[in-house]
Amino acid sequence: MPRPEDPPLKPCPLCGGGLRRQFEKFGYWVLLCPACDTAVIDPMPSEKDLKGYYSLDYFKGNRAKFGYSDYAAEAACLKRAFSARAQTIRSFIPKGRILDVGCANGAFLAALGPEWEKHGVEISPEILEDSPPPKDVKVFTGDFLDYPGSPGLFDVATLFDLLDHVRDPQAVLRKAAGLLRPGGLLAVQQGDRSSLFARALGRCWHIYIPPTHLWYFSRAGLSRLIERQGLKVVRCEYEPRWASLSLCLFRLSYILPAFLVDPVYRLVKGTRIGELSVRFNFRDFVTLYARKGPA
Ligand SMILES: [Zn+2]
Repeated sequence: MPRPEDPPLKPCPLCGGGLRRQFEKFGYWVLLCPACDTAVIDPMPSEKDLKGYYSLDYFKGNRAKFGYSDYAAEAACLKRAFSARAQTIRSFIPKGRILDVGCANGAFLAALGPEWEKHGVEISPEILEDSPPPKDVKVFTGDFLDYPGSPGLFDVATLFDLLDHVRDPQAVLRKAAGLLRPGGLLAVQQGDRSSLFARALGRCWHIYIPPTHLWYFSRAGLSRLIERQGLKVVRCEYEPRWASLSLCLFRLSYILPAFLVDPVYRLVKGTRIGELSVRFNFRDFVTLYARKGPA
């Protein structure tokens, strides 16, 4: 519950609407803007804090950062998820120039065929060094808002599990929309806080992990945010997700007591059993595909 000594809240950074305190988690407030149906954490971490966040330990099992148990070990699972997504993208645009923002080791771009000209943006130099992307992927290391691409350069831009990690999702969408040619395709995947699963779990929903996630979108709110940038949402998918058993256990520890999950996690991590692929779909991750209007 909000306390009398809590300072008054600033307006919603996305729409200027009034924010309401929902709940506290990990020392942060989660605030909801009913006007744009988006939630945001308070206080917002500084740019400097966020830069240091995505060091190699984020990808290699630092549980305090809620990242990955071992990103490289997820290769088989990611390949399955990414192949399906690549197929959806090809159904819109069969070939061309694509930009994947937050590309990590380029696993998604690798799932596209050789007929694509592949570009990526990745903020973490450590993951690129540890697990270099394929040679046909041209990577810009740094903040996407500093990406030097010319307007209209790309046929497709993808933002998978990215918008909730950035301080200004609106600026990121604006930049991505500007980089697309008229008729180009934008694909955005995010946890959906309006999903039945998320609403049933409330503050225990595994996506509520401040300060890893700074924003929590609903399907409707995210659609409006995308359409505000001159795009039209043309398809909405709740794709199945794949994760290794190790990663499932790693993430279960966000919601279950460590003494229950840790012993099993330690037992299977790095073993063949830990590498088993688990397919799941709680319909709480939405992928929106949007086309840019004519010039
Ligand atoms: Zn708002």
